[in-house]
Amino acid sequence: MPAQGGFLRNRIQAPIDVAVIGGGVIGLAVAWRARQRGFTVTVLERGELGGGSTRVAAGMLAPIAEADPSEAALLELGLASLRSYPSFIEQLTRASGREAGYLRCGTLLVARDRDEAESLSRELEMRTSLGLPVQRLRASEARGLEPGLAPTIRLALLVADDHAIDPRTLTAALGGALARAGGELRTGAEVRELELSDGGEDAHRVVLAGGERISARRVVIAAGVWSAEIEGIPDHCRVPVRPVKGQIMRLRDPAGPALLTRVIRMAAGYIVPRGDGRYVLGATMEERGFDTTVTAGAVFELLRDAIELVPGFSELVIEELSAGLRPGTPDNCPVIGESEISGLYWATGHHRNGILLAPITAELLVGELAGEQPSELAAGFAPGRFAHAAAESAP
Ligand SMILES: Cc1cc2nc3c(=O)[nH]c(=O)nc-3n(C[C@H](O)[C@H](O)[C@H](O)COP(=O)(O)OP(=O)(O)OC[C@H]3O[C@@H](n4cnc5c(N)ncnc54)[C@H](O)[C@@H]3O)c2cc1C
Repeated sequence: MPAQGGFLRNRIQAPIDVAVIGGGVIGLAVAWRARQRGFTVTVLERGELGGGSTRVAAGMLAPIAEADPSEAALLELGLASLRSYPSFIEQLTRASGREAGYLRCGTLLVARDRDEAESLSRELEMRTSLGLPVQRLRASEARGLEPGLAPTIRLALLVADDHAIDPRTLTAALGGALARAGGELRTGAEVRELELSDGGEDAHRVVLAGGERISARRVVIAAGVWSAEIEGIPDHCRVPVRPVKGQIMRLRDPAGPALLTRVIRMAAGYIVPRGDGRYVLGATMEERGFDTTVTAGAVFELLRDAIELVPGFSELVIEELSAGLRPGTPDNCPVIGESEISGLYWATGHHRNGILLAPITAELLVGELAGEQPSELAAGFAPGRFAHAAAESAP
């Protein structure tokens, strides 16, 4: 549906079913799935679609490579999303008429020296004890799979099920699918405030920076690291989200796509191939507030490690240096579900895993939008777990 003109915008329209604040991978996935369930949906994005943290992300789909036994619920969620990816992409490609940038490439975890090899052996034991499919490879076997790896590597683990996707291609496909399905996408629409109804038949109102009010029966906050900044939400319902900075670079091999075919993970970073000669090299993890500067030291360290591991990397052309902000919560887990205010939902805090978790987040949240009981899987990610902390930290 096209955006309305200025005169009509100042009037309060009939309520839509779902207003989604934020047009990143999470907001778009939720909106598309909600539209598929028959809801009228509007996405309100203050900048460009997919222009937030999603634009910067590498796009690894790596619950197994990133498994942490102290985060069992997150691992379950990640595995569920990984399993749903193939059908999600198949439906998305059909619905949008576009490729989604999904690469079933697998992942290699690589050790460069004895210390890293010992650490990798412990990682293997941990994953095996969790029943995760990981295969130990001798250096020669790893180099057989990826001849671009340095002859000096000591050991590798093959995670055949962890893949990758290009987040920019993915958000373009999600936006296309949503538009084709009749959802409304409004860019340049900054949400300033929510006027929350106190129940009954009244809808909530989403107030834009220019003063326009949009009436919606359900509001989904999917504004990534900026989710906590929207005004009008009572403190006891506010989800604490903090920015975790990541510096990252994009490169291209003029010789073509042969240098690497799998995601390569090393002690302090990773290289993600796009399958066409482009690579993403990342990333730092820094607690520096909303700073998105790129520093010489970070670029140096990323390149030094990558070139040591894959000597041919030194021939690549640097196309982009950037820094993004991962939306982190106090327990590093996402927040998915209805708040204590009826009709107000959160889909945020996806930290390092928002691209991976987009399909499962959309599935769980849209189930709740449709009035289904939250599943057991969703229970660990309910917004209510922060209610106490938010109220205590209120001034
Ligand atoms: C360096 C780096 C590498 C990463 N690599 C990976 C990876 O390999 N795999 C993975 O799964 N994840 C990765 N991530 C994490 C991933 O990027 C995030 O978890 C994910 O993008 C979060 O998506 P989102 O939609 O919640 O947020 P965003 O993409 O930030 O979208 C939020 C949107 O809300 C909009 N917005 C904010 N406030 C308002 C407002 N008031 N009104 C209207 N619109 C508003 C913003 O403009 C933005 O477009 C990485 C992150 C970084 C920084």
